[in-house]
Order: sequence, then C-alpha cells, then structure tokens
Amino acid sequence: MSKIQAIRGMNDVLPEESYQWEWIESVIREWLATFGYQNIRTPILESTDLFVRSIGTATDIVEKEMYTFVDSLNGDSLTLRPEGTASVVRAAIEHNMTYGTPRRLYYCGPMFRHERPQKGRFRQFFQVGIEALGFEGPDIDAEHVMMASELWNKLGIAGEGVRLEVNSLGSKDDRKKYRESLVTFLKGREQSLDEDSRRRIDTNPLRVLDSKNAQTREIVASAPKLPDFLSSESIDKMERFKQFLDRSGIAYKLNSNLVRGLDYYNDVVYEWKTAFLGAQGTICAGGRYDVLAEQIGGKPIPACGFALGLERVLATLSSYKVQIPKLNPDVYVVSSNETAQLYAWDVAQVLRDNTLKVVLHCGGGALKSQMKKADNSGAKFAIIVGDDEVAKKTITLKSLRAVRDDGASQQQELSVKEAIKRICEDGV
Ligand code: ATP
Ligand code: MG
Repeated sequence: MSKIQAIRGMNDVLPEESYQWEWIESVIREWLATFGYQNIRTPILESTDLFVRSIGTATDIVEKEMYTFVDSLNGDSLTLRPEGTASVVRAAIEHNMTYGTPRRLYYCGPMFRHERPQKGRFRQFFQVGIEALGFEGPDIDAEHVMMASELWNKLGIAGEGVRLEVNSLGSKDDRKKYRESLVTFLKGREQSLDEDSRRRIDTNPLRVLDSKNAQTREIVASAPKLPDFLSSESIDKMERFKQFLDRSGIAYKLNSNLVRGLDYYNDVVYEWKTAFLGAQGTICAGGRYDVLAEQIGGKPIPACGFALGLERVLATLSSYKVQIPKLNPDVYVVSSNETAQLYAWDVAQVLRDNTLKVVLHCGGGALKSQMKKADNSGAKFAIIVGDDEVAKKTITLKSLRAVRDDGASQQQELSVKEAIKRICEDGV
C-alpha cells in the first residue's frame, strides 16, 4: 500500500526541534503577561464571509491563498483561518467584549494559507498576535512596537539583524486621494509592470507598491508618495507615535511604500524585517485597523495589533546562534533486575515529588545498554540500583557529565535523600 504523508507545506515538529517551540512559547507567554495581555482562543474554522469581508477581495489571501470548502453536511462555506485578527474582532463583537472597557488580547496558533512552500513560507504556520481593542492610539500603537522590541531583547536577537520599518496609511479619505494619483501614475507605465501589478491597478493599486518584482519596484520608486497625501490629523498621530519610539530608543526607517497585504489597515503600520530570511524576511507585522469591526457588521472599535510568524522568528534565532535550553531529564534511573526495578520505580517517584525530571528505564536489558540509554537521554545523572542498593535502601549516583581528574566519571553510593540534595546542588 502507498505511504500516507503529511500535506505539502504543513510540517511535523519533532522532539528534536519541539523543545525550541516550547521554549519560545514560554518566553512569549511571560513577555505578554508583563504587559497585561490576556489570551483569547478562537476556532480555527470560520465562515468564509468573515475573511472575505475583513481582509478584502482584492488581496493575495482572499484571491488565492485561502483553504475554503463547503461543509457537505449543511452546505456552509467554511475557511481555515489565514490570520487571527478577523476572528478576534468577530469574537469581541459577538461577546460585547469592549463594552465600556478596552481590551489587550493575544492569541497563538496555526494559520493556513495555500502558498508555494519555501524557506520561511508554509501552508500551515504559527502566529502569535496581539490586539488592542477600543484604543484610539497612537500611544498603544507605540506600545506594540516597543513590546516587539522587548521580545527581540528577551530572545537575544535584537540589533542590526532585525529592523523596523514604519509608515502611515492615513485615513480612508487620504488614501482615496492618493489612490487616484497613484493609479494615474501606474496607468502611464502599465506596459512595464509585472502581470500581477497590472491587474492590481484597478483592484488594489497600493499593493503594487509592495511588489517583489525588481522592475516594478524600480518604477514604483518614483511614484507619488503616500505621506504627501496625509491629513494633519494622521500626520499628528504619526509624530506622536514616533515620540514614543524615540523615548524607548527604538530605531526605525520610514518606508513610504510599506502597505500591508490586508485591506483593513489605516494610519500607523509597521514591519519588523530580518536580513537572514531573504524575501521572507518579515517576522512581525501590524498596524491600526479602525474600520474592521464595522466591516464585519459591528459597531466601530478603534483597534490595532500585530502578528509575528513563529517559524520565521525561530529561523532568526538560529541565524543568531541563540542557545535554547534543552528539556533534558535531570536523572535517568536504571536497575539490574526485576526486583531492583520495583525499588527503582519508587525511587523515581520520590525524586519527581522533589520536582526533579526523571526518566525510569523501561524495557529491561543489560545494565550496559541501559547506561547507554541514560547517556543518550541527555540527563545529568544516572541512578543505578542493584541487589545491594535494594538491601541497604540506597542508590548509586553517577554523574554523566562531570569527569574526575583521572578520567573516570564520579560514582557514589548515597541515601535517596542525599542523592536529591546532591542533584539539586548541581544546579538542576
Ligand atoms: P509576506 O509578505 O511574507 O507574505 P504577509 O504580509 O502575508 O507576509 P501577514 O499576513 O502580515 O504576512 O502575517 C504576519 C506574519 O506571519 C508575517 O510577517 C510572517 O512572519 C508570518 N507569515 C505570513 N505568511 C506566512 C507563511 N505562509 N509561512 C510562514 N509565516 C508566514
Ligand atoms: Mg503573504
């Protein structure tokens, strides 16, 4: 029979790598708690309409990246979420979450986009996102950027390799005026643009600014600039936003061609990019989306947020050679026969009750091969139990890391209590 394999672009994360995920997720959780963000968990499946109405019909995501299917049991059109913001805002409206109180929220989980898999681009990928609902900004927008910067510090990747680009998309009216001027400019150069961009002139001209095609980028460099079309209100917001960044000493570059791939953004938008991942260098992106709640049928909620791609952040960590602690056991317990294993069983549990991470050898075998497994487990210590130890109610503790001056590894017969003390003293 043919082998069944995982779906292209959807990865298994094996234990050899998953410890990195667990580590980064725990750092992220702590970081979010220090800023008072609360977790929200929304379903992975939503009505297709939610994403079409929020993200916009003329976007990459809605045009060609969504996993949409009809539920054959009732005919509903469903979509695997391609991003998290729309679902969070849907939930906020549905549960009246912002009534009277603004909310600082975060989510973490898989997103799905039918893209061509390549380095840093997958069909199932994980995002951590934060959303601040009910805030006018731009203080909170700056808080988000500062939070990201803090996270890079905590992860040990801050510096030249991770850079911030910011822009203001202004209000809907500002963009309308800009759009007219941009369309005129692009129409005059239509023949030289790539196919995608030509198509976008009428549907989503701002996306042309974001094209990855070299020739299009060259043309776009001399296009009218969005910042020249901003109202004084949007300019003021941007200035205030920058004051906060300066206050935190966060360096940024203004990129007037920075537009987001989703239609719901206005005013402050930004992206954090790393030099290490080529065209897939954006590790975190976000901005303000004041119109989104209305677009999906709710009352207006001023709001902003960002999402970061965990695979890309992890890839950046490995470029920086950040050492991620492995979740190795503290102790691996071996025994020389079945009676001794019963005693070892109890010893292992006493150790666990003392907060140690303990693997009890299962499956029998010669002591030598058990010790080999102890070594491979990455544990700092082995505990060895034979008839002698059973009779005396002791254990033999062997350090699997430290080596004596004469080259032999240290081994000592101790009571269980003494052993726990020794192991803990070792800095477990
Ligand atoms: P890109 O320009 O790289 O396609 P995007 O604008 O589509 O990114 P967003 O929708 O803003 O991305 O998603 C936020 C973050 O999620 C990105 O900055 C990136 O880190 C990550 N991301 C987006 N799409 C993918 C994907 N297919 N695989 C892995 N990570 C992704
Ligand atoms: Mg994309």
